[in-house]
Amino acid sequence: MTEPIKPKPKKPRGVAKLLDGKCIACGARCQSACPVNAVDMTDSGEPVILTDKCIGCLKCVKICPAEALEMYFTPEEQKILAELASSALPVEEDIDPEAVALAKMLAGYQGVWVFVEQTEGEPAKVSWELLGVGKGLAASLGVELCAMVIGDQVEHLCMEAFAHGASKVYLLDAPLYRNYRTEAYVEGCCHLIEQYKPEIILMGATGMGRDLAGAVATRVGTGLTADCTGLAIDDKRNLMQTRPAFGGNIMATIMCDKFRPQMSTVRPNVMPMPERREGARGTIVRDTFVVPEETILTKVIEIIRDAKSKGAVDITGAEFIISGGRGMMGPDNFAMLQELADELGGVVGASRSAVDAGWMPGDRQVGQTGKTVRPKIYIACGISGAIQHLVGMQDSDMVIAINRDKSAPIFEVATYGIVGDLFQIVPAITRRIRELKQQRK
Ligand SMILES: Cc1cc2nc3c(=O)[nH]c(=O)nc-3n(C[C@H](O)[C@H](O)[C@H](O)COP(=O)(O)OP(=O)(O)OC[C@H]3O[C@@H](n4cnc5c(N)ncnc54)[C@H](O)[C@@H]3O)c2cc1C
Ligand code: SF4
Ligand code: SF4
Repeated sequence: MTEPIKPKPKKPRGVAKLLDGKCIACGARCQSACPVNAVDMTDSGEPVILTDKCIGCLKCVKICPAEALEMYFTPEEQKILAELASSALPVEEDIDPEAVALAKMLAGYQGVWVFVEQTEGEPAKVSWELLGVGKGLAASLGVELCAMVIGDQVEHLCMEAFAHGASKVYLLDAPLYRNYRTEAYVEGCCHLIEQYKPEIILMGATGMGRDLAGAVATRVGTGLTADCTGLAIDDKRNLMQTRPAFGGNIMATIMCDKFRPQMSTVRPNVMPMPERREGARGTIVRDTFVVPEETILTKVIEIIRDAKSKGAVDITGAEFIISGGRGMMGPDNFAMLQELADELGGVVGASRSAVDAGWMPGDRQVGQTGKTVRPKIYIACGISGAIQHLVGMQDSDMVIAINRDKSAPIFEVATYGIVGDLFQIVPAITRRIRELKQQRK
């Protein structure tokens, strides 16, 4: 008769324990290191280990600079450890409980969501651009593309979201959400996230989107990558968020592989507008969540339009942009670009150097710290083509560069390059366009 096979013993992991009088209140490093939120902090900055949550991963013990934490084993566990140490029995393959807990948490989140930004019921164009890129992400993951619509009497935006590719809309429609207020929208957003658990949330990198995304990410305890220029899915289903870093000198791809949802903001005009599918339909999930108005400290009393914005030009929506840089030599010479812009029905843009010199207002600046544009034709006049400028215009359908330096980097992204003096070339182009228009009459 063969001996019955002895069950393999499992190595106990124990729980973390604070050693009396050793903590130096270093700033809660143990709490930050804990992957399962098993460490609370007292007012005096010492940790309290929640033993029912602790999975014995040792992270807090390893990170503590004062060796104030150790692993605690019950007498039974100590006996098993002693047996294991004295016997030659193979220990059962230890499953990493941290990895198991992480995989379980990640599996609980599903779907790609786009926040539909609106002001008085008017949607921001960037929301539809995000649905365009979100569609590809959802297809890679094999999940639904959803929109999150928050406002007052905004059901018409659900239909627009379907037309731009969403198959489901989560809707919070109540007077509380009439005007954008950070607290009310954060409460609403966080409620939807906690309730329906999306794995990815995209928002426009606009004033509202930047404000909301940061506050929501902080509240739900996840990461946020701002101003992404590229989004894709890796082989582990993580979102690869690409954006310029170190002043635009490198492109960094950022991942948020241990927290959900993964959150990104993208500037207007960075992603292409998806095709509109007239009459497309989907599911609307109406959620009635509101918080009492009294708990929202911000009250909107009156909306006063910015007087300056009356004369302001929105270069982001223009089809033709004629931009000038330091090569324009002074503010008066921009009149020459305006003439060309008038002939083409376009607007005048500028590089940061031209804006910093006070030759053009800030709302005309194209680039990393200005606007991102995607016109049909972008004409760069006397602009060298620094990377911070290129990230704002390189996705234009056609780029025409005029520069007297044939090795200027702007020529690397130009569809057509003209090497020469802009003061001769720009008026010549304007003249030729006028002639052609005359001939057509
Ligand atoms: C963090 C950070 C953010 C930034 N954000 C932005 C941004 O958003 N947008 C932006 O534009 N820049 C930005 N910059 C600045 C950027 O690095 C460049 O300094 C700037 O774009 C240069 O502007 P420019 O091409 O007009 O000037 P220059 O680099 O000085 O180029 C002038 C060009 O004009 C040409 N030229 C001169 N005279 C003539 C002529 N008569 N005919 C034809 N060509 C002529 C010259 O050959 C030269 O190539 C940023 C920089 C940093 C560090
Ligand atoms: S041992 Fe791991 S799970 Fe337990 S408290 Fe420390 S970091 Fe958290
Ligand atoms: S890491 Fe160590 S020293 Fe720092 S708070 Fe935690 S127990 Fe105290």
